[in-house]
Amino acid sequence: MHPFAYIAPKTVEEAVAVLNKHGDRARPIAGGTDLLVQARGGRFDLDAVVDIKKIPELESIKNGASGLEFGAAVPCYQLYENKKLAAEYPGIMDAASLIGGIQIQSRAGLGGNLCNATPSGDGIGPLIVHYGTAVIAGPGGRRELAVEKFCTGPGRNALKKGELLVSLKFPKPSATFGAAYERFIPRNEMDIAVAGVAVSVELSADKKTIKKARVALASVAPTPVLAEAAGAALIGKSADDEAAINAAGAAAAKAAKPITDMRGTIEQRKHLVEVLTKRMIRKAVERARS
Ligand SMILES: Cc1cc2nc3c(=O)[nH]c(=O)nc-3n(C[C@H](O)[C@H](O)[C@H](O)COP(=O)(O)OP(=O)(O)OC[C@H]3O[C@@H](n4cnc5c(N)ncnc54)[C@H](O)[C@@H]3O)c2cc1C
Repeated sequence: MHPFAYIAPKTVEEAVAVLNKHGDRARPIAGGTDLLVQARGGRFDLDAVVDIKKIPELESIKNGASGLEFGAAVPCYQLYENKKLAAEYPGIMDAASLIGGIQIQSRAGLGGNLCNATPSGDGIGPLIVHYGTAVIAGPGGRRELAVEKFCTGPGRNALKKGELLVSLKFPKPSATFGAAYERFIPRNEMDIAVAGVAVSVELSADKKTIKKARVALASVAPTPVLAEAAGAALIGKSADDEAAINAAGAAAAKAAKPITDMRGTIEQRKHLVEVLTKRMIRKAVERARS
């Protein structure tokens, strides 16, 4: 592996200055569970890695009346071990608690998962169905971007030269909100999703009707997909309406544009998306009612 400098800035501004100076030859490191594997595999030559875990803002979690904001370097375990967060943001917790194993979850976070931008990233769909926004800092100041617009291709994201993901923020879910994420893998853990589906629903006050819904897909397109037609198929329908749930499953399968590779075929992936979508809708509704 090409030797590189280790730089540990204390502020976002310092990190942005280093990233801007080195361009493609410097990369932020959060948990490093993707970055170091890729660097060792020769995917890129680095002059510097910029350790963002020493920046307090990137390690902070704020959960207030208006919603949740957590830093891009917060590791998964800090999210799911917080009982209040786990109850309020169940889809995000599903992802945080299944990425890798306990060792990976102790270092890796959802910020790194998003920036890595693999189609199979387990965290990205849940961030989308929780209406996540990426807060980005760069040489020109700060900007915000909806998570569903962040990934632009396999391993590519919307960050420009010198930009850094600072945090992810989410609106406060209502009392009738529920969300869930599940992936299909050939074994129980430590594998790459053949297909994954995240769903969120917001029910009416009597918990009978679906007011809002989102469906997001993993591993079935060059980027994670917000399947808008699948969410739309549920809105205004009874939360127990099997015909609407079936229609959402079919719409999700239609939105999937998978490839055949060593992990699965196009047909299998589309089938999985349909099955997982229906299963996740029922689970999100159950959570919204509990
Ligand atoms: C054994 C093992 C099991 C795994 N299992 C899973 C799994 O089940 N599901 C899954 O989705 N992934 C899995 N992964 C992949 C990886 O652990 C996850 O993608 C993880 O969430 C990455 O987070 P990280 O903090 O380690 O990111 P890093 O490796 O630190 O960073 C990932 C990429 O994002 C960039 N980056 C990081 N932070 C920022 C930032 N703030 N701003 C801009 N760019 C940034 C880095 O430069 C790098 O290119 C696994 C990896 C291993 C080694």
